[in-house]
Amino acid sequence: MEYIKKLWRFIIPYKTHVYLNIFFNILYALSASLMFVALVPVFNTIFKKDLIEYKEPVYTSLFELNTFLQDYQNFYIYQKIKEDGHYAVLLFFIGIIIALALLKSVFGYLGLYFATYLRNGVLVDIRKEMFNKLVHTELSYFSEKTKGDSISRVTTDSTLLKNTFLSLLEIIVKEPLTIIFSLILMLAGSPSLTVFVFVFVPVVGFLISLVGKSLKKKSTRVQVESANTLAILEESLYGLKAIKSYNSEETFYNKYQASINKFYKLSNKLMNRNNLASPMTEFLGILVIGSLLLYGGRLVFIDKTLDASVFVGFLGLAYNIITPAKAIAKASFNIKKGNAAAERILEVIDRDDVIKEKVDAIEKQSFDHIISINNISFKYEDDYVLKDFSIEIPKGKTIALVGQSGSGKSTIANLLTRFYDINSGDIKIDGIDIRDLKKSSIRNLTGLVTQDSILFNDTIKNNILLGNENATDAKIINALKIANAWEFVNELPDNIYTSIGDGGGKLSGGQQQRISIARAVLKNAPIMILDEATSALDTESERAVQVALENMMRNRTSIVIAHRLSTIKNADVIIVMKKGRIVEQGNHEELLAKHGIYKKLVDMQSIA
Ligand code: ADP
Ligand code: MG
Repeated sequence: MEYIKKLWRFIIPYKTHVYLNIFFNILYALSASLMFVALVPVFNTIFKKDLIEYKEPVYTSLFELNTFLQDYQNFYIYQKIKEDGHYAVLLFFIGIIIALALLKSVFGYLGLYFATYLRNGVLVDIRKEMFNKLVHTELSYFSEKTKGDSISRVTTDSTLLKNTFLSLLEIIVKEPLTIIFSLILMLAGSPSLTVFVFVFVPVVGFLISLVGKSLKKKSTRVQVESANTLAILEESLYGLKAIKSYNSEETFYNKYQASINKFYKLSNKLMNRNNLASPMTEFLGILVIGSLLLYGGRLVFIDKTLDASVFVGFLGLAYNIITPAKAIAKASFNIKKGNAAAERILEVIDRDDVIKEKVDAIEKQSFDHIISINNISFKYEDDYVLKDFSIEIPKGKTIALVGQSGSGKSTIANLLTRFYDINSGDIKIDGIDIRDLKKSSIRNLTGLVTQDSILFNDTIKNNILLGNENATDAKIINALKIANAWEFVNELPDNIYTSIGDGGGKLSGGQQQRISIARAVLKNAPIMILDEATSALDTESERAVQVALENMMRNRTSIVIAHRLSTIKNADVIIVMKKGRIVEQGNHEELLAKHGIYKKLVDMQSIA
C-alpha cells in the first residue's frame, strides 16, 4: 500500500466520482443483502400450507424489535394468504426479490460507471505526467535505463495500477459493506448461527494472507522481465537493418526468447499464486456452508429453535458473505501487484533531476562577449573523459575541435549545452556559470547539429518548425535554401509538406542532414555547435553546405567539430585534442608550421 498511497494525489481530481461510487456501492450492498431477507417470507408462504392463526403482535421495546418484526411478518403473510390465497402471496414476494435483484444490478452498474472515470482518469493523468517527466529527464538517465523499460513503466505498470484502484474501492467500501449488512441481518435471524460464521471469517482471512505474502516481490520481477522483453523488441526493430545485414535474426530471436521464457516462468508462478486464492476461498466457503447446514439443521429439526424459512434466508446471507470475501481476497492480491507497479511509476515521476536548475536561475536572452571553459574535468562513469580542459571562445569567432574519435569532442558539445554537468571547473557564458542559468536559456542560446540527424515521422515543415514554432513557410524555405536543401525539397511531391517517414527514413542520409541543418538555421541561435554536421554529406553537397554554414556562421560564434580537416581550415582557432586533453592549438598556418599532430592529420587526409 505504501507506494499506492504516494499516488493518492492522482485521485483528488476524481473525488466526486469516488463519492458517487461509494454512494452506489452502499445501495448495492444494501439491496444485495435485503434480497436474501426477502427469501424468508417466500419460504414462509411455501411452508405454511396449513394456516395457523397469527395474532397481530404488539410492539414492546427496541430489544424485542427482532421478534416483533418476525411475528409481524408471520401475521402479515397469514392475513394476505387468507385474503388472496397462497399463490398470489408467493408472486408478490417473488416480485419483491426480483425488484431487489434489479436494484442491486443497477446500483452495481452505477458504482462501476463512476469508478470507470476514476480508473481511466488516473491512468491517463499518470501517463501524461510520466511522459512529461521523461521528456524533461536528462539524457544520462537513458544511457543507463533502456527505452523499453520506460515504455513498460508508462504502459504496463500504469495499466496494472488502474486495476488496483477499482480493487481498492471494492475492498474499502463495496464488499465489506455487503458483509456487514449481511452479518447484521444474520444476527437478527439467528445470533448463535452468526457466531458460527464469525469464527470462520478470520481463519479464511489468515489463510489468504499467507498466499499473498510474497506477491509484491514476485510481481516486481515479472514487471522487470516484461520491461526487458520490450527493450529487446524496441532495440531489434530499431536496428533491423543491421540485424538483417549481419544475418543476426536468429541471435536476436534467441535473446528475445530467453527473456520471454523467463517472463513465462515468472508469470506462471505469479498467476498460480493468484489462482490459489479463488479455489481456496471457494473450498473454505463450502466448508462454512456445510457446517452451517449441519448446525442450522439441528436447530431447525431437533432443537426446533429456528424457523425453517429463516434458516433458508440465513443460508442466502451466508452465501452473500462468501462472494464478497472472495472478491476481497482477489482485490487484495491486485493491490499487492498494484503496489509493485506504483513503485515503478514513482521511480519515474518522483525521480530527482541530476541536472538541477536553481530556483533563482537567470534568464539570459543574448550572448554578448565570451564563452569560457575553465579547467573542467568530466567523466560519464569511472574514467575521466576530459581533464583540466580550458578554452575561451570570444563572440563572433569560430573554434574548431579536431582529434581522433573518442578524444572527447562530442563531450564538449554535451557539456556546453548542459546535457551533463561537469565534475570540476566551470563553464561560463558572458561570465555567468551555466549552472546559474535557466536550462531553457542555455538551449535557446545554442544551436546544435549532430552527426546523426534526429528527425521525426512528420512533414519536413513540422520537423523544421522545432527550430521556431512561428516561422512562416517563406522563412522555412529560406532556411532550406541556406542549408542547400531547397533544391531537393522542391522536387518532392508535396515539397515542405512531404512526410519523411520514421526517423526521416524516406530521405537519404545527406538529405536528412541538410534538413536538420535547416532546422538549426531557422532557430537562429547565437552560438552554433556543429558536431560532424557535414559528415553524412557527399563531397559535392558538403562543399555547398559548407558555404552555407560559413554564411550562417559569419555573424555567430561557432564551435565546429569535424574530422574532415578541409572544412575547418578557416577557423580562428583549431584545437587538437587527444584523450580529453589539448595537445596543440592555433590557426591552420600556425599548426602546420609546428609540424606536430595536426600536420600529420592533414598529411594523412590529403593523401586519401
Ligand atoms: P568524440 O571525440 O569521438 O566525439 P566523445 O566525446 O563522444 O568522443 O567520447 C569521449 C569518451 O567518452 C569516449 O571514450 C566514450 O567511450 C565516452 N562516452 C561518450 N558518451 C558516453 C556515455 N553516454 N556514457 C559513458 N561514456 C561515454
Ligand atoms: Mg563525436
